[in-house]
Amino acid sequence: MTEENEVKGLYLLDSSKFGGRYVANWRVLRPSIDCDKCAACQLCIGYCPEAAISARQDRKPEIDYRYCKGCGICANECPQKAIDMNRESEAKK
Ligand code: SF4
Ligand code: SF4
Repeated sequence: MTEENEVKGLYLLDSSKFGGRYVANWRVLRPSIDCDKCAACQLCIGYCPEAAISARQDRKPEIDYRYCKGCGICANECPQKAIDMNRESEAKK
């Protein structure tokens, strides 16, 4: 499935990615990672139920917002409190 299959307001199964369903435009809260606070423990990667977080080359996480549902588990589990949840309308893109 390609990004051409994304439909505004709907989510579609992307069978190429474990757990992956495109979120389209209905996410309410958006996580953002403060890389200065992040200790690269990668707990957030393990906890994300959507497999939306992956590790960069420096082992710090990055979020694929196509899959993130804004559940906040990553922010809740981060021992460094390096992830903030903000309303989509107020979050920096
Ligand atoms: S859980 Fe927090 S400290 Fe650990 S990798 Fe994720 S953002 Fe960084
Ligand atoms: S908010 Fe939820 S879905 Fe989004 S990256 Fe964090 S744990 Fe994953």
